[in-house]
Amino acid sequence: MISARAVARLRAGHAWVYRSDLVSADGIGPGALVRVVDERGRAWGTALYSSASQIAIRMLSPGPVENFPALIRERLLAAIRYRDQVVSEPDACRLVFSEADFLPGLIVDRYNDVLTTQVLTQAMDSEAARQAVISILAEQLSPAGIVERVEGRVRELEQLAPRANALLAGEKTDTVFTMNGVRFQYRGLEGQKTGAFLDQRENYAAAARYAHGDALDVFCYQGGFALHMARACSQVTGVDSSRGALEMAEQNAALNQPATEIEWIEANAFDLLKNYSEAGRKYDTIALDPPAFARSRRNLETALRGYKELNLRALKMLRPGGVLVTCSCSYHVSEADFLETVASAATDARRTLRLIEKRGQARDHPVLVGVPETAYLKCLIFQLPG
Ligand code: SAH
Repeated sequence: MISARAVARLRAGHAWVYRSDLVSADGIGPGALVRVVDERGRAWGTALYSSASQIAIRMLSPGPVENFPALIRERLLAAIRYRDQVVSEPDACRLVFSEADFLPGLIVDRYNDVLTTQVLTQAMDSEAARQAVISILAEQLSPAGIVERVEGRVRELEQLAPRANALLAGEKTDTVFTMNGVRFQYRGLEGQKTGAFLDQRENYAAAARYAHGDALDVFCYQGGFALHMARACSQVTGVDSSRGALEMAEQNAALNQPATEIEWIEANAFDLLKNYSEAGRKYDTIALDPPAFARSRRNLETALRGYKELNLRALKMLRPGGVLVTCSCSYHVSEADFLETVASAATDARRTLRLIEKRGQARDHPVLVGVPETAYLKCLIFQLPG
């Protein structure tokens, strides 16, 4: 049973009920499908229950659900159909994005002939749900392999038994996939997140449209922006603190054999930007794509200070006519906050900036109106007039 506050949230189109808004949940087991009712006895439909998460309930359907695997099938097919509409290069895309595809707690990515799944909630971790997902994906897409990727921290929070990344079906875990004509290695059992940052796919192409001259890709990971910019730039430098990511970046460069020289540097981005800007280095194109600095609303201010410092240093190094591609994947930092932060960095750097594009996550990571948490990525592209 849910409180009036939870009812107001659901009415506004949200899909979550927090534990503090549960009036009662007696005898409900972890990951169960539950019928949601309010204190007046009105039914709100069927939801997935978590006994551990602060998000106690994730809405699944406004009506009763008799057969969960059949519902998973219907929604998976719809998710695949949606990608057929919005993704022109289906070789690498997110096929299922949790709530935004009405499958709360399930992520499925496609990397050429390898599919990856990730389970984020108790309900999606049930054997019935997992088997349904694997068999429908195998039947619909005939992949050479299906790999499960595990987020240890999420499993801990959901009180799910630890699990390692593993091959669930087929034989293949590693492959090569293409984004905007650039080739990338994929290693199903390694890497961060689900292996690559598919949410930036459309932003890579946008960055490559404006990139020119000497380019710097800060927080380059496996070279997403750097390899795209290499097509248009005379020299590219990629910077990351992870040696493993840079080794992959180097292999990706070898796969594409760009005419442009790419240099990979293992360094702390804050230190490197400070040293380079103080040494008077100049660039024509800079991409900044740091990890999420604001993991919760509480550290929003610290996060904004981090974004400001990075953008300030980058702006000081930009030549007239230069391009800044600056990203934030912190949900808690709104687009307005982020814009304001870059604007304030520009004031401090005494630079006039022109905003060329305001972008977000690629369309295969759909945003559900009513569930603001589904919109998290900001990518702003600026030009320094001159
Ligand atoms: N731009 C990348 C994704 C970046 S993810 C792409 O498009 O694929 C964030 C990256 O920042 C990770 O690779 C992580 O290793 C790196 N990182 C985190 N903290 C860092 C720091 N202080 N200095 C440099 N790199 C850092």
